[in-house]
Parts: sequence; structure tokens; C-alpha cells
Amino acid sequence: MTDTPTSGWDASPGKAKPGGAAAPRLLLRRLRETLAAPGEVPERLDQIVKLIATSMVAEVCSIYLLRGRDMLELWATEGLKAEAVHNARLRIGEGLVGVIARDGGTVNTSNAREHPEFRYLPETGEEIYRSFLGVPIQRLGKLIGVLVVQNERPIVYNEEDEEALRVVAMVIAEIADAKSLLPPDGDDDEDRGPFHAVGTGAADGVAIGQVHLHEPRLLLPNPIADDVTQERIRLREAMDLLRSDIDEMLDSSSMPATGDHRDVMETYRLFAHDRGWLRRLEAGVATGLKAEAAVDAARTETRTKIDRARDPYLRERLNDMDDLAQRLLRRLMAPTAADEPMPPNAILIARTIGPGELMDYPRGALAGIVLEEGSPSSHATIVARALDIPLVVQAGRCAREANQGDIAIVNGDQGHVHFRPRHDVVAAYEEKLTLRVQEKQAFAALRDEPAKTTDGEHITLLINAGLSADLPNLPESGAEGVGLLRTELHFMLNRQMPTREEQTRFYSYILGKAGDKPVTFRTLDVGSDKVLPFLKQMPEENPALGWRAIRLGLDRPAILKMQAQSLLRAAHGRPLRVMFPMVSNLHEFKRARGIVLQEAERLNTKRHTPPSHLQIGTMLETPSLIFEDDEFYKLTDFISIGGNDLMQFFFAADRMNELTAGRYDITSISFLRMLRVIVRRCTENETELSFCGEAAGKPIDALALAATGITSLSMRPAAIGHVKRAIRAANLSEIRAIIDSAEKNQKPIRQTLIEYCTETGIPI
Ligand code: PEP
Ligand code: MG
Repeated sequence: MTDTPTSGWDASPGKAKPGGAAAPRLLLRRLRETLAAPGEVPERLDQIVKLIATSMVAEVCSIYLLRGRDMLELWATEGLKAEAVHNARLRIGEGLVGVIARDGGTVNTSNAREHPEFRYLPETGEEIYRSFLGVPIQRLGKLIGVLVVQNERPIVYNEEDEEALRVVAMVIAEIADAKSLLPPDGDDDEDRGPFHAVGTGAADGVAIGQVHLHEPRLLLPNPIADDVTQERIRLREAMDLLRSDIDEMLDSSSMPATGDHRDVMETYRLFAHDRGWLRRLEAGVATGLKAEAAVDAARTETRTKIDRARDPYLRERLNDMDDLAQRLLRRLMAPTAADEPMPPNAILIARTIGPGELMDYPRGALAGIVLEEGSPSSHATIVARALDIPLVVQAGRCAREANQGDIAIVNGDQGHVHFRPRHDVVAAYEEKLTLRVQEKQAFAALRDEPAKTTDGEHITLLINAGLSADLPNLPESGAEGVGLLRTELHFMLNRQMPTREEQTRFYSYILGKAGDKPVTFRTLDVGSDKVLPFLKQMPEENPALGWRAIRLGLDRPAILKMQAQSLLRAAHGRPLRVMFPMVSNLHEFKRARGIVLQEAERLNTKRHTPPSHLQIGTMLETPSLIFEDDEFYKLTDFISIGGNDLMQFFFAADRMNELTAGRYDITSISFLRMLRVIVRRCTENETELSFCGEAAGKPIDALALAATGITSLSMRPAAIGHVKRAIRAANLSEIRAIIDSAEKNQKPIRQTLIEYCTETGIPI
């Protein structure tokens, strides 16, 4: 038990303590009246702190605003020393105010000085105030400042106080964002010059266009409701519209019966009918907020959680909620305020984006994408790559720097983003684009030509694919088939484990689209950076070396069995090629192969049409397989070298770590010597061999691989043209001789090959 008194509300001249939502509502009404009067920024802030202090019966109320990137400055106070205004400053993370700013949470204590994070600022005279309640002032996850009340007596602020302060902080944030309150800051200068950011290129290509903000800046000049009942009705109506929007999308004839897009929208439908969400929004309205402001407040909370969430599954779900809130806001706001028309060649700028939202944009409308967050392996990235849209992720403050309609350049090859670029920068990129168009035309002309070297060696070129959207690239690219179909991408885009029927439909679609061209399906390769939203992964010290790919498949055979059944059924009289990822020894291969063969036998008993021909092979990604018994090489129908993983295990260099990923060279002699051993063992045992790592899509690397004896290369579709052009101009015997002499003379092979190609006119 404590005898610490609780706080009080000055609800009326009689100081009664209103309950529920009434208290914040009352404060909001007074705030509205105060703000309705004309006034400059400092006066307005002064009025607000006075009002809060009186209403909450607090001796101190202060507003700290964020100045620059990480400094919080006292801008207005009732109760602290007046001279502290603009002089009292704290860095983010420093003192209780800094902690609130850093964590985006509330601090509520009846003994501030005992709090481990307390930091005394002598200029404020605050040492006498023991009770402290502070909340962040933020909008859409963006910190604007901190709002604090303090009392000398050690009182306990209750939930109602916290709620009231949060609502007021939100109102301050909304008004501040409308710029009527925000003090001038260089950052907000409208007439901004060029801006350049370096992020991570996640989907190749270059685009020049005009900024289209995924999330148009929604301004809510007055977040306080005039009529709470009316706001409740508006909220309900907007929610009904949102739900019927989603239903309509799901029912529309353009929505496929199965696939990534439908799965995402089905999940949205579930969320849109979630009662808890509606209750939270209605609670916001009940406190006296306009419907938009209530949605915005709930969304700010979601974004704070997103920033804190480490678990990728949770982050994905929270991002879905965030996406849905944006849709609801669009329904609530007047269309003109919310929806900017799409400029031609739109460069989409977003803090983050879900795969569903990306697929909502009409095909062909987006020339490029820039995300402040995102990652090269995120779902949206996978979709962008499949749609062949250049993408840069992790691009700093891009969503804040861009204005709707600004000229923008996205360089997805190198991760560069330019807004409002200088004339010469635009000219340089225009030049680059012209060259690309010419190249594309040249590649299209080569489409039906064979990839044959000048000395008559045929190299089989195949594509790596993963989504249904990849398949139209097969005929366009001029490739001879799909060398690697990463089935995990289909799983990653689903909210739950795809059923056997869904998988069967998807594989059947792929086979149908590929026609008579072969497709090699790789069984589920998850773990490490590939996370399935519905499969809980243990945290691992070294995930790349951990419980992933076939290890997981063998330990959870039900998943592998279901996938095998789906693949076998999908083949339905057509040839089928299945391969396993990350196999490390003969024993693992035998077990995985046994599962597929067993399912093939079962298929007969269930009267399904079996594949016309079944081949079972494996990826070679671990060096141990190179030294396996001949029995392994004889048993496996084919081997595909996964150069990305093999590189990381050979050189012991993490492919996900920027500092190590590009450190070693696939054309270094040690690696080529290893490849020669693989080629020899496959030749001796008559095992079909191909290579499907990223290097296959780079002309110099592809030539080195072909010269080493790997005559089947699988790569991203956009690389086929480049590689085919180089192969057709190259004499492989000469390249072999060049590599041999570089080896003898201990010269770097890549450099030697580049010089040779440049001299002999091989386009690389
Ligand atoms: C590889 O490791 O080279 C490979 C093709 O597999 P992934 O990149 O999907 O791991
Ligand atoms: Mg791999």
C-alpha cells in the first residue's frame, strides 16, 4: 500500500474529477478555444503549457522541441525558471526527457530524482519537483518533442492523466506538423536544393522521373472534434468503405484466384474486421479527437512499435496494420487532400511499403522506388525485382526530403538517389538511360540466337526465378529454361503456409508458362536471411551456418513431403526437376531424395498422373560435397553450384555483411581451382553440372566459369542479354589460355580478363 496521493483534475471551477474520456475531452475543448485565438508561436506554446498545468493541477508543464537531429530544447514552460527557455537542452537519450524521445514511451514516476536516468539541469530549478509524467510529441513515428508535467508532491499520475497528456501531445504534434506552431528550422526550408543519398541498391536499373509520395502528407489542421457523435459516425462509415474496397478488390475479375496478391489482400480483410482495432479508434474519438486524428494516433503507436520490433514476423504484421490505417485515412480525408495524381514516370518514395501496396499501383506506373527502410531481401524488394523496377532501400531521410513532383533519379545498380538534381547530373543519367535502351534493343535482336562462342562451344543460359511475375521474362530473355526456381519466395509472400493445393496450382502455373523449357524447382530454402512469416525460427549465433534449407526440411519432413507432393501433382505428365538446397553430405541427399521418391510412388496409388520424367538433383553450396564419394555424384541426376553460398563458405566471408560480402573474388585462382575439381568429378561420373549464383550474370565471371568447364549458367533474367553478347564474341580456348598464363604468372585473373576483353572487343 502507498499513501502517495493520486493526481487531480481541475475539470471545472469546482475541481471535480471527471472519469473516462471526459477529462481529456474537456482539456481538448479548452485547447481548441485557446488555439482559436490569434497568436504567434511562442505565445501559443505558452498558452498551451499554462492550460495543461491548470487542467491537470500540475505545478509544472513544459514543452521541449527537437532542434536539429538530436537536441531537445525547452521551448515553453509553466513552473520552471523562465530563463531556462531556449537554454535548457538535452540530447536524445539524456535525462528523462531524452529517454522519452529515444524510446517513444511514457515516463511516469513519483520520485524523478531517484530514477536512474534522471539528469539535473540547474538552469531549470526542477530539483524540487518529485513527480514527473512525460510523453513524446510525435507524428507518424517522427519525433517532434516531449511534453512533461511535474509536481512537487510525490503524486502518482494515473492512466487517465497519461491518456490526457498523450492526446494533448498528439494535438500539439498535428498542429506543429501543419507548421503553425513549429519554430523555424533550416530543415524545413521549402526552397530546397539538390539532395543526394546513398542507400543500398536492391533492384537493378536506373530511372529518371518525378517524385510520387506513397504517403501524401496529410495535414490535419484541426484535430479536435466539434461533435464527437458525428466523428464516430464518420469513422464507422469510413471503415465500412474500407472493408468494401477490400472486398471489391478480392472479388474483381483482375484479382487472380490464387497467388501473392490475393494472399496479402485476404490478410488485410482479416485486419479490417478486427474488433480490437475499431475499438481503439473509437476510444480515440471518444477522447475528443476527429476521426482522422484518432486513426493517426493509433498509427503513431503502431509505428513506434514497428521501430522497436526486432522479430521480422511481428514487423511485417505491424506494417500491414500501418498500411491499412493509411487506406482508412485516405477514405476519411477529402480525396483532393489525400491523393496527389501520379506523375508520369513516377518515382515512388516511401518510408516503407508492403508487397500488397506495391502491387496496388497500376502495372507500368512506377519507374523507380526509394525506401527509407526496406532491405534487399524484403518482400517488397522481391516484388520490385520481379516487376523489373529499380529500387534503392535504406535511403536515409528520403521520405522527408522529397516533395511531390520533384525531379528524382534512382540508381538501383549502385544505390544512389538524387532529388532536384543539378542539370549535369540529369544529363549524365539521361546518357546512361539512352545506352540502356540501345542495349535492350541489341539484346532483343539476339534473343533467338544461340549462346555459342566463336570457337563453337555452346553455353546454356537459364534464368533464376521465384515469382509468377518472373515467368513472362523467360521468352523475352531468350533463355533456354529456368535453372533455379526459388520456391521459398512464394512461401515468403504468404501469410500462412501455402496449402498443398495452393502450391500445386503455383507450380503448375510455372510449368505451364515455361512450356517445353525445363524448370528446376529448388525445395524450400529458408533460414538465415530468408524468413517465413509463419515459421518461428530460433535465434541463432550463426544463422548462415545454422538450421536452414534442407536441414530444416529433413527435421520437419512434413513440409518437404507436402512440397514434394505438390510438385509431383503439378507436373501431371510433364518432366519434373527437383533439387535440394544446402546439402552437406551424401546421407542428407539420400534422405531428401528418398522422401521425393516415396511421394512419387504414393502418387501412383492415388491415381494422379506421374511426371513423364523425374530428375532429382542438388545444389552444391558447401565445400564438403566436393569431396563426397563417387556414389553421391552417381546418385544425383544433376548438380547446380550455388556460388553465392559456396563463396561465403569457401572464403569464410558472410554474404550479408557489407564489410565482407564483396571482399573476395570468384575469379581468384583458389576458387577456380576448386571449381575445376567439381567439373572433373562431374565429368568422371557423368553428372550434369550448372552454376546458379549471382556471378553467372556478370559477363567476366560468366566467361571465367565457362572457361573452367561449366557450360550451363543460370542468372537473373535481365543479365541474359549481357552474358549472351559476351559469350558470342568470345573464343573460349583463348580465354582458357589467358587464365592459365595469369595463373602461371600469378597475375589477378579478373584484371587480365578485363584487359583481354577490352583489347579484343568482347563487350563486358
Ligand atoms: C546460391 O547460394 O548461390 C544460390 C543460388 O542460392 P541463394 O542465393 O538463394 O541462397
Ligand atoms: Mg544458396
